[in-house]
Amino acid sequence: MMKTGRYWKDQGIVLKSINFGELDRIVTLFTRKKGKINVIAKGARKVGNRFGPALDCPAISNFMFYNGRGMPVLSQAEIVDCHREIGKKTNQWVFANYLLFAIDRCYEPEESDERIFETVLFYLDLSTKCENFYILALKFRIDLIRFLGFLPRIRSCAVCGKPFKKIPQGWSVASGGMICEKCFSSIADIHYLPPNMMTLLAKLMTFSCASCLSIQLRENQFAYLDRFVSEYLTYHVGKKITEWKIFLERFQEAS
Ligand SMILES: [Zn+2]
Repeated sequence: MMKTGRYWKDQGIVLKSINFGELDRIVTLFTRKKGKINVIAKGARKVGNRFGPALDCPAISNFMFYNGRGMPVLSQAEIVDCHREIGKKTNQWVFANYLLFAIDRCYEPEESDERIFETVLFYLDLSTKCENFYILALKFRIDLIRFLGFLPRIRSCAVCGKPFKKIPQGWSVASGGMICEKCFSSIADIHYLPPNMMTLLAKLMTFSCASCLSIQLRENQFAYLDRFVSEYLTYHVGKKITEWKIFLERFQEAS
């Protein structure tokens, strides 16, 4: 139980917000130290309120909070970077929203992870310089999988642990990785992946982000990997993590 009457600071980014009462908003933030938190921003719906664009997505701000009797109260917000340039280009803006959507789905309240906070800042910054959102969206989800602690095994069998001499075709989402031929029959959710997809997946998992950007993907290859990575994340997080292509299409249809 947090003590009431105490002020504290944290840096964060707005994941989402909903109207509350006539003048307030309940804002979900992802903060550097505390992870995902819900706070109340009193008076945030008033024109010319003191928070200004700090509560707009995807602004990064230094926040000050006050522990009230219920959820923490946002008392001050000072913008560090409002990412104005992201709002100017549709796909960049949708990509920023995709990062925040995935974080919101993958993390429980107060599950802090400074690495993923830094990673979101990294991808937001990168999205202003590079428009290969197909690769960025894949690589970001793979980073998420790594930070959440369920990176698939690709060098040795996810069941028996035996190192691979050549890339196998068996894959199991539940077992968490590639499966050797001997273990095929013991796995209920065995899938057979085309070898070129296994190779691409291994590259995406092991290459740096900069090197991943030089990978050439055909549209059908991207569609396959997009679905594949989202299905893996969805299974292990227990919440639906929409594919980038579908997320983008939904936005384009709505606008
Ligand atoms: Zn095996």
